[in-house]
Amino acid sequence: MEDGESLKKIISHSKEYGFVIPSSEIYEGLNAVYDYAHNGVLLKNNIREYWWKSMVQMNQDIIGVDSAIFMHPKTWIASGHVEAFNDPLIDNKDSKKRYRADVLIEDYLEKQRNKLNKEVLKAKKKFGDKFDENEFITTNKRVLELNDRIKSINERMADGFKNNNLNDIENLINELEIKCPVSGTSNWTEVRQFNLMFKTNLGASSDSNMELYLRPETAQGIFLNYLTLQKTSRMKIPFGIAQIGKAFRNEIVARQFIFRMREFEQMEMQFFIKPGTQDKWYKHWKEKRMEWHLSLGIEKNNYRFHDHEKLAHYADAASDIEFKFPFGFKELEGIHSRTDFDLKSHEKLSGKKIQYFDTEKNESYTPFVIETSIGLDRMFLSVLSSSYSNENLEDGSSRVVLKIPKQIAPVKIAVLPLLKKDGLPEIAKELLNEFSSEVNLSYDEKDAIGRRYRRQDAIGTPYCITIDHKTLEDNTFTLRDRDSMGQKRINKDELINIVKDELTINNLLNN
Ligand code: ATP
Repeated sequence: MEDGESLKKIISHSKEYGFVIPSSEIYEGLNAVYDYAHNGVLLKNNIREYWWKSMVQMNQDIIGVDSAIFMHPKTWIASGHVEAFNDPLIDNKDSKKRYRADVLIEDYLEKQRNKLNKEVLKAKKKFGDKFDENEFITTNKRVLELNDRIKSINERMADGFKNNNLNDIENLINELEIKCPVSGTSNWTEVRQFNLMFKTNLGASSDSNMELYLRPETAQGIFLNYLTLQKTSRMKIPFGIAQIGKAFRNEIVARQFIFRMREFEQMEMQFFIKPGTQDKWYKHWKEKRMEWHLSLGIEKNNYRFHDHEKLAHYADAASDIEFKFPFGFKELEGIHSRTDFDLKSHEKLSGKKIQYFDTEKNESYTPFVIETSIGLDRMFLSVLSSSYSNENLEDGSSRVVLKIPKQIAPVKIAVLPLLKKDGLPEIAKELLNEFSSEVNLSYDEKDAIGRRYRRQDAIGTPYCITIDHKTLEDNTFTLRDRDSMGQKRINKDELINIVKDELTINNLLNN
């Protein structure tokens, strides 16, 4: 399936089956703003719970906070967002479409990397078992050329952004003959900076009126509260503060469904450490976060690290965990070594001391920070897109099935009475009552059983339980497995074990 096609299918499936719907649709929708429908809310809640439990509940050295979206406007001066939270914008004069200059170059680089990989694959095929990949990569002329080219473009882009030399970024786009995907031309404007923060006003009267911003990240709510939280929870360094909440960015290009929205949710954790230990902790959190992703059981090859060349103004090291979305590998989560930049800046601008007092050494210092930051909506898209599968079945029919990791599936078990009579619905409802405090269940008595199975496949329900006449005799049910479509007869005790051992978030956490 073509990439664009597969995203389109996911978008329409999401809408049809109650995951994600366009916001304000009766007024033609709002660009890049989405609402979550019932199944979407359930899936989102499960991902959020998986993150929160593994980050906070299971770590005695991490505490939580829920800070307000509105923050004093000085926050964003100190953090550097007023000055530097810009994206480089470029327009194509023919299509009138707007792009992020860095994304245009990154996409170009990705194409070069794909070319390089193709060369390797071609050689692998040609030489079979005798193929030595390392030797090929380090000696093949074409591969070496491509590698040099990628490296030099990367360096030039990094230098251009570091020195705020937007002219050179523009030159680079022109030299590489990057074309607008819509008009197909290279008729570009100059590159300009565009601040991504949304402005609003606090208060109604003109004298008390204060201009403020909707927060573009949740992290600053952690930094401003750092000292109070550390003291009230009596935390000792190293320790972390975690927060889940909405963030807002007036993105230049907000396409690709919920991958890039203007209102989205972040799950962030700032880990406060002793200066000088940042390399160790940066490495630690990179590993930990990758482990968290992999324990969901989604295909490992969908993830990779991308270490940054272009560092944000606050970071001394940064890496993304990228995910293979339907439109290619893109950032899913960022791990940043943020130094003491934020705390120091707030200390300077507020005039308040924001330090850590080390009681053992009897000295104060400004902690360094390692941040892990993931978008909940992007995580949602990674789960949805990797689980979407269109299968042709042996009987010639086909089905769409979402192979969502069982523990975070929106509905865990569908309870289906074979007929709407003979006491079968009553038994089904007893099961619902018994299990619905443990896991989310759904009840469906409409249509033939095959169609009901398909409906559950389409929302990713791992198991269906069918109540039939045999249930009346021996209290057993048919258990139907989403992935294998296999069926077997089980009794209540076995059902209890399945719920307990396979279907809760705790099963993921205890692995
Ligand atoms: P990108 O380069 O894709 O714009 P970023 O580097 O600006 O992302 P961060 O500032 O590191 O992103 O934000 C942390 C996380 O928040 C990202 O890894 C991503 O998952 C999520 N995120 C950022 N911007 C958006 C957005 N507009 N919509 C949805 N999620 C977002």
